[in-house]
Amino acid sequence: MKIITALEAQLGEAAILHGEKLQSRYHHIWKMDKPLNAVAVVLPKTTAEVAAVVQLCHQMGQEIVVHGGLSNLVGGTETAAHQLVISMEKMNAIEEVDPISKTLTAQSGAIIEHLIDAAANHDLLLPLNFGAKGSAQIGGAIATNAGGLRVFRFGMTRQLVLGLEAVLPDGRIITNLKKIIKDNSGYDLKQLFIGSEGTLGIVTRVVLRLIEKPSSRCSALVGVENYDKVLQLLKHMDKGLGGTLSGFELMWQHTYETMTSDPSPYRAPIPQHYPYYVFIEVMGKNHTQDVKLLEDLVGDCLENEIVLDGMLAQTDKELNALWQIREDVAVLAAQAKDDQHFDISLPIPKIGSLIDQITADLKKLPVVDRIFTFGHVADGNIHFIIGKHENNPDVIDAVNALVYKHLKAHQGSVSAEHGIGLHKKKYLNTSRSEVEIELMQQLKQLFDPKNILNPGRIVN
Ligand SMILES: Cc1cc2nc3c(=O)[nH]c(=O)nc-3n(C[C@H](O)[C@H](O)[C@H](O)COP(=O)(O)OP(=O)(O)OC[C@H]3O[C@@H](n4cnc5c(N)ncnc54)[C@H](O)[C@@H]3O)c2cc1C
Repeated sequence: MKIITALEAQLGEAAILHGEKLQSRYHHIWKMDKPLNAVAVVLPKTTAEVAAVVQLCHQMGQEIVVHGGLSNLVGGTETAAHQLVISMEKMNAIEEVDPISKTLTAQSGAIIEHLIDAAANHDLLLPLNFGAKGSAQIGGAIATNAGGLRVFRFGMTRQLVLGLEAVLPDGRIITNLKKIIKDNSGYDLKQLFIGSEGTLGIVTRVVLRLIEKPSSRCSALVGVENYDKVLQLLKHMDKGLGGTLSGFELMWQHTYETMTSDPSPYRAPIPQHYPYYVFIEVMGKNHTQDVKLLEDLVGDCLENEIVLDGMLAQTDKELNALWQIREDVAVLAAQAKDDQHFDISLPIPKIGSLIDQITADLKKLPVVDRIFTFGHVADGNIHFIIGKHENNPDVIDAVNALVYKHLKAHQGSVSAEHGIGLHKKKYLNTSRSEVEIELMQQLKQLFDPKNILNPGRIVN
């Protein structure tokens, strides 16, 4: 094939996988048994190599799909047989941690967990934290503007990016790897590449903002009777902890029960019959004082019947065991056949009643057999994993319609953090106006008039 010969001439044969070699490649970490459908996978090692490949594709009108850590939940890395994959996995160098500027510079294929470790070696924290951090790459997190478990305190990925470098769909390189915090010299173009899911450019290098690593971390898990009390608990903790509350994660009873019963490897730290469970994380300065404060606050809540039960995790081992129950959503996905994943935003006060309504509606659909609900409630973001015993476009649409039913009326979002990808494009208009969608299409046309880079993601 002409494109493969041309790519091999540019990058060398070892950097281009095709034919038999695609048998061991896949498009998602949960679909490793399904061989990749694509022309070839290209493995560049430098920005110049990415630019050369993209330039060639631009000339030849070759469609490209970018592969990061393959952990997205919206079909963003699915491919068709005529598409070429550029995988960022070899561009994983951590170039510098600057403890004075408190920045980390890396190639975009670096795994998030490796960046967290590199920052920790300098007593600094990269506050990105989510279940897929061991697979997801920083380029993927930037492309999706990933959120996670500490957004409430530290913000989304967007808040952590100081500078970036990207290859445009015609092969030009845009470099802005400044470490500075303030830069109002015109449009902040880097923002266009954050959350645009690889449709406007391929992120190749990045400067991240780090923070001083809090020297103490402790957590509690509490059982709560109703959603109003969850909100009272959030207020009490946020106010009482004086800025050190870094995680406040909600899990509905059925989800907790599933996460802590066979065949899950996890066991319930507190009984399984409370309607709601809240995972609380505190990151502060003085471990003894932080634990005491958290203990006192949970004690107040028990006394005032805001919570029904609770336990404290203090050691790293206890903390990790507790947070695995919240983070390891693969356990839920494994029990939900033909699963659909949702990631909606709703105003925080409305979440309890709206999720009850959505759940009741879903239970009326005979094809639905599992409904798992959990999420980043302090950010107004709830996830659903829905399992079914039938999977066809009508069933998928029926489930989508019920979950998205209330978004417009309550000014919610069809995607709080996972993005739109291929799977949610049809529903973009539940969160975005006609004018907004039109502008997105115009931007895509401006950056990528031949529509070769991640085509069909977000907008057509
Ligand atoms: C168990 C689990 C838990 C999760 N929890 C969360 C969570 O709490 N919060 C959250 O936000 N997400 C979560 N996710 C979703 C996912 O991990 C994030 O969307 C993550 O940011 C994707 O990164 P990735 O490297 O895997 O990207 P991929 O899945 O490889 O790609 C995602 C999109 O970005 C594009 N892309 C990848 N790399 C680049 C690049 N260098 N330049 C341009 N475009 C690129 C791809 O083409 C694709 O469209 C979770 C996923 C799993 C499996």
